[in-house]
Amino acid sequence: MREYTIAAVPGDGIGGEVIDAGTRVLHAVAARDGGFRLKVEEFPWGTDYYFKTGKMMPDDALDTLRAFDAIYFGSAGDPRVPDHISLWGLRLAICQPFDQYANVRPARLLPGVKGPLKGVGPDDLDWVIVRENSEGEYAGVGGRAHTGLPEEVGMDVAVFTRTGVERIQRFALDLARARPRKKLTLVTKSNAQRHGMVFWDQVFEDVRRDYPDVETDKMLVDAMTTRMVLDPKSLDTIVATNLHADVLSDLAAALTGSLGIAPTANLRPERDAPSMFEPIHGSAFDIMGKGIANPIGAFWTASMMLAHLGEPDSAVALMNAVERVTAEGRVLTRDLGGEATTVQVTDEVLAALDGRN
Ligand code: ATP
Ligand code: MG
Repeated sequence: MREYTIAAVPGDGIGGEVIDAGTRVLHAVAARDGGFRLKVEEFPWGTDYYFKTGKMMPDDALDTLRAFDAIYFGSAGDPRVPDHISLWGLRLAICQPFDQYANVRPARLLPGVKGPLKGVGPDDLDWVIVRENSEGEYAGVGGRAHTGLPEEVGMDVAVFTRTGVERIQRFALDLARARPRKKLTLVTKSNAQRHGMVFWDQVFEDVRRDYPDVETDKMLVDAMTTRMVLDPKSLDTIVATNLHADVLSDLAAALTGSLGIAPTANLRPERDAPSMFEPIHGSAFDIMGKGIANPIGAFWTASMMLAHLGEPDSAVALMNAVERVTAEGRVLTRDLGGEATTVQVTDEVLAALDGRN
């Protein structure tokens, strides 16, 4: 029987609650489909671990994780610890050394979920945002200077390499090609940022020639925000830099109803290191421990992980079960206008998987 190993890193805040729910559902999917087994091992890293040891994860964490087929991640962040420790000490400390350069964020209005846009339904908003996840504006290049200059200066330098730009654009073109509409929008800001962004446009002109079957267009990032709100149906797959896609995907998450729904994959397409799957939302300390976190973001994330592991039928079965529950609208958490708990939504999705509701 096929067997996959998954490293679960629940992390901080509601991470533990939603990863527990997601792990239950994953085991149920494997048992139901019968063709494969999942071995899930949990690692209690994060802020509590930091308070005990002075580190967010142990020194040999990457060696440990490398042996797994995938990483199922909850959240990193705690109001008691600055972000540069929690984020850089855990989430980015995994993403960067494993070079998970393709951050993939589907945004789709699930049936029954009301988004903020009037007259926009599930058929009108179905996007995948591909975010460059390894360089660009977040390369960490720059500095502060205050001596020998007329005034104090702070700089963040966006670094784009040919390799980095080409591989993310090809990844996005491949993804667009695999989707029914075969459509990709390139987002830059090449009217104002005349070096790196023009480079993105030029590389795109080169690589898209290899994809004559994919329809492409280009948008400036400011105009893109307007189009996402006013004409969502015109978009399908979207590729943008680290910073631009970060902003666009938060907008996309808001347009699809709740932060509690949206998933992310940090992919290492070459598969020489594990990829990492996490819900978009953060630690959400305001609702932690109350048992009311929406687990759907963790379920959708689990579905992406199954697809990546090579179990596309199970991935679809899981999303179908989630969509049956949202469409019915009886058992939903508060962020979606319901009153159900995390466990009740999980039970409902499990029942839908079994065809019991
Ligand atoms: P972080 O700093 O880790 O990003 P945060 O608290 O700033 O955490 P989020 O965790 O992203 O931000 O949450 C923002 C808001 O959305 C919070 O009010 C939170 O309660 C709500 N929220 C986030 N995730 C969920 C979820 N899964 N279910 C219900 N509400 C959620
Ligand atoms: Mg946040």
